[in-house]
Amino acid sequence: MRRALVVGNWKMNLDHVEAVHLTQQLAVILASRPAEHVDVVVAPPFVDLRSVTSVIEAEHSVLEVAAQHVNPRPAGAHTGEIAVPMLTRLRVRWVIVGHSERRTHYGMDDQVVAETARAAVAGGLRAIVCVGEDEDVRARGEHRGFVEAQVLAALSGLSAPEGDVVVAYEPIWAIGTGRTASVADVAEMTEVIRAAVAATGVRGVRVLYGGSVTADNAAELFAADVDGFLVGGASLRAESFAAIVAAGESCYAGGR
Ligand code: PEP
Repeated sequence: MRRALVVGNWKMNLDHVEAVHLTQQLAVILASRPAEHVDVVVAPPFVDLRSVTSVIEAEHSVLEVAAQHVNPRPAGAHTGEIAVPMLTRLRVRWVIVGHSERRTHYGMDDQVVAETARAAVAGGLRAIVCVGEDEDVRARGEHRGFVEAQVLAALSGLSAPEGDVVVAYEPIWAIGTGRTASVADVAEMTEVIRAAVAATGVRGVRVLYGGSVTADNAAELFAADVDGFLVGGASLRAESFAAIVAAGESCYAGGR
């Protein structure tokens, strides 16, 4: 049976004290309202990872932890960067790869995205690879081909156990803007992504949507045949994030 996946990307928000607080709140909510058909992951800033994993262990919570980025090289002279083994040693299980903010502001091109996905999976992390077009690409009607090319570039030549790769469709015009993509838009693009993934031969890939997902629109968006969501703003408050998880649970509990 398929399981949903809901990932909270905290971006550059919450210091380690605030992160501990939010993690504790989420652990309590998930213990009292178990989401048995949803994998729930939070992606705090690097400096919070140790505290967050400690809280999760102390609370025996089902929550899992992602990093927001990783450098593909194993070690060395890369000031300011973090390597895969540093994350796995902290019991971080996931990593976001190629978020549009990293692609746009920190020069992460398709080749680096592919290298990072390969290094992450080879090192024992599960990679959440982000793809998505900007407003201009969509206005030109080129979004299908653009996103297909991003998926092929990121996954081609990747050898990964089933379930270790996730693709998140995150149209840039929908991120942090309140302009959520329509169910029809998301359904169209998840179909494109699933076909591209099939062509790469990588198996067991869940496809997420991200872009202004909230507690109010999550249930409707699940109708677009997504396996879950990558959530930014709405993941910073325990109740709104838990409500998105609950929408996944209602959708998947009936055996999607
Ligand atoms: C994101 O940062 O990946 C994201 C989808 O943000 P938001 O939910 O705030 O649009």
